[in-house]
Amino acid sequence: MTRAPAGAPRLTTGASFVPEPHLLDSPRGRDWPRPPLAPLPPRDDPPSHADVVVVGAGPAGLAVASALWHHGVRDVVLLDRGGRACGRFFARTDLLGQHVLRSPYEHHPGVEGFRDCELLDFARLHWGRLTPTERREVRMAQAGHRSVVPVDVFEAYCEHLVTTHGVAERICRAVVREVLPADDQVVVHTDRGTVTARHVVLCPGEERVLAPSSWWDGGAAPPGVTYWDEPVARDARRQVVVGAGLTAAHLVTGALEAGREVHWVIRAPGEHYQCADVNAKFFRPEGRARIGGVPWADRLELFARYRRASIMFEFRPALERAEAGGRLVVHRGEDVTRIAAGPGGTVELRLAGGRRVAGDTAALALGTKPEIGLGLLPASAVGERDGWPELDERTLAYTHAPRVSVVGAAAGMVLGPAARNIDGHRVATARVAHAVAGSLRREGSSVDAPPRSEVKAGV
Ligand SMILES: Cc1cc2nc3c(=O)[nH]c(=O)nc-3n(C[C@H](O)[C@H](O)[C@H](O)COP(=O)(O)OP(=O)(O)OC[C@H]3O[C@@H](n4cnc5c(N)ncnc54)[C@H](O)[C@@H]3O)c2cc1C
Repeated sequence: MTRAPAGAPRLTTGASFVPEPHLLDSPRGRDWPRPPLAPLPPRDDPPSHADVVVVGAGPAGLAVASALWHHGVRDVVLLDRGGRACGRFFARTDLLGQHVLRSPYEHHPGVEGFRDCELLDFARLHWGRLTPTERREVRMAQAGHRSVVPVDVFEAYCEHLVTTHGVAERICRAVVREVLPADDQVVVHTDRGTVTARHVVLCPGEERVLAPSSWWDGGAAPPGVTYWDEPVARDARRQVVVGAGLTAAHLVTGALEAGREVHWVIRAPGEHYQCADVNAKFFRPEGRARIGGVPWADRLELFARYRRASIMFEFRPALERAEAGGRLVVHRGEDVTRIAAGPGGTVELRLAGGRRVAGDTAALALGTKPEIGLGLLPASAVGERDGWPELDERTLAYTHAPRVSVVGAAAGMVLGPAARNIDGHRVATARVAHAVAGSLRREGSSVDAPPRSEVKAGV
């Protein structure tokens, strides 16, 4: 992808994109001005009734709650394990040392079809707090080019959404254990009580993919082995990283910055660098049309082809330098077959080619897997097929439980690989919020009419 010159000189050579690694170095933890209404602490216990229960308050749940607010639906409760909007998202990015989003400014959890302050507007409002590099990225976004969004800006924007859409007072810290759909209501059992709702929107996100059982003999991982969403021992001097995606790249970079010697095991023949998480066409209607409504086997094939681990271009120069300097050893085209304790408290990985790689610690970044409702809903309601739920393509409601719908990665077989991304949530949210608000109105719930001036003509 080529980036046009803007402000300071851009490093572009013909049609090939030369990355600027310093884009990854956005400051984190700046003191943003608080929105006029400071967010309230999460509610203690969920209420016994609500028009809509949203399970999960990540970027997807926040988008749903904001959209319902615009639709005039006020009796909404968000149930989240951590009790903080987008808490898990920021905990994960901070643990990895990820300071910028992979998605550009136009991907934001704001509301489609309603006038609102969007992520780019928000960044412009806080121009004085942005670094010169961050300002250039805002200009890139304004000019319609790919842009890099600081996690700091995104977090402050999420807080803005929470405050301006009445979300803070609707979040309860609770673990949802069971969602039982009936004809006229849905009963949601949590560790802090039961809520009966007219509609439930599942936004539980994704969980880490676990190592195959053949890597060790079941049970807990061998000492020294961690997953990407767990802290790595600080005193490690030699670290092995397994995986080929952006998360693995963050782990490798973090380990190099901590002065460790790193061994990186990649199953594919080599690293794959690209701007976005998935091919850009899947963020557009024509890309989504390639998956929605086509035969199931074609969807699976498309998904397998395009949902491929990749790394932002900006990582490339530093990783190549580290490899050339011998601090990073990359084992390309190698499958792990076994992980076990090694001599002297180390952990040893056996590779399919016969090689053994040892480290003080091994971090596994094997990808993520959508939560599709299994374990919460009855299996008959999920209608699981090849790991995906059976959904109404128009409303994203479960075919066998029409009062329960999904926003997030679980909608992948309808919206394509971008369903797991912030932009996919916005597309899914527009469908779900419209359907849920319409149903509540038909059933006579008190839904405020959105102010006429708020609705964008023709969207
Ligand atoms: C490190 C990392 C970086 C990423 N960067 C980007 C990016 O830059 N741009 C982008 O578009 N996408 C990015 N993604 C993809 C990203 O996962 C999504 O954009 C976003 O986090 C998904 O939002 P979500 O609300 O679906 O899930 P989450 O953010 O995971 O939120 C789900 C919430 O639901 C809660 N929950 C789940 N089950 C229950 C239950 N039973 N009871 C109560 N609460 C429950 C969870 O605790 C969590 O708080 C990234 C992913 C990772 C892992």
